[in-house]
Amino acid sequence: MTKFRILVSALILLLAAPPARADFTVVTTIKPLHSIVSAIMQDIGTPKLLIRSAGSPHGYKLKPSDARMIRSANLIFWIGPSFESRLAKAINQVRAKADVIEVSKIPDLKRYKMRGKHENHDSHNDLIDPHLWLSFTNARHIAGHVTQELSRLDRTNRSKYQINLNSFTNSITALKATLMKKLGPAHDKPFLVYHDAFQYFEKSFGLTNKGALMASPEQRPGAKHIAELRVLVREQHISCVFIEPQFSKKLVQTVIKGTAARIGELDPIGTKLAPGPKLYGEMMRNLATSFVDCLM
Ligand SMILES: [Zn+2]
Repeated sequence: MTKFRILVSALILLLAAPPARADFTVVTTIKPLHSIVSAIMQDIGTPKLLIRSAGSPHGYKLKPSDARMIRSANLIFWIGPSFESRLAKAINQVRAKADVIEVSKIPDLKRYKMRGKHENHDSHNDLIDPHLWLSFTNARHIAGHVTQELSRLDRTNRSKYQINLNSFTNSITALKATLMKKLGPAHDKPFLVYHDAFQYFEKSFGLTNKGALMASPEQRPGAKHIAELRVLVREQHISCVFIEPQFSKKLVQTVIKGTAARIGELDPIGTKLAPGPKLYGEMMRNLATSFVDCLM
């Protein structure tokens, strides 16, 4: 055989061989992150998901089964200690045997500071808003970094990870263009959100957020703040106030009483969606639909 034919046969073999199954354990914290890692690991392995419950992931409390899952990991992806704060101790304890990737520190990510006035004066203002997966640009950088980490750990499958990265990137690039068109007409309609989780999404699509009901994810507003919010809804002609699946409607009903504002729902972590490679796109699409349905 000529050298060329040997090369061609080798290439055909390479393309025909199914990728080897991963023999290591990857653990992720929240569903959107799990979805991105699942997309990159498709046909090779399935990452584990820590936070499955419907509650807010801010300050999520560790269960004994979660601690076991963390101890079983070879590679962990989490947002970081300012977000899944109560996982920090358990994650720090496995650093000797597992690679731990703090997603909020990935180079090239767009990082915004936390917004909003905090009633108690204020070390919060320099903190990075941790909801950074809600930008397609960031999702692409995260997926790229995930691909690097997996390829380093599992060199046999690195061409497969790269193929998966390309198809993930293509699908979210197409989705972003679709959602751009869909959200265009809603861009100047003012709204309020429950907790300030959406600035990455809002800034990607030029949406007009006028504030958040909660001063922080776990801090309910007092009577004074509620009175201010009622004024804000009137003066800013707020079209819509968005709740989240895990929070009650009661506070919002008080805030919009006697105005034309509607109630919508935004889900920043895909609470109601089945975990897996498709979740990320579905979650972003659902956010766009919720904005359009309530604002228009
Ligand atoms: Zn949040």
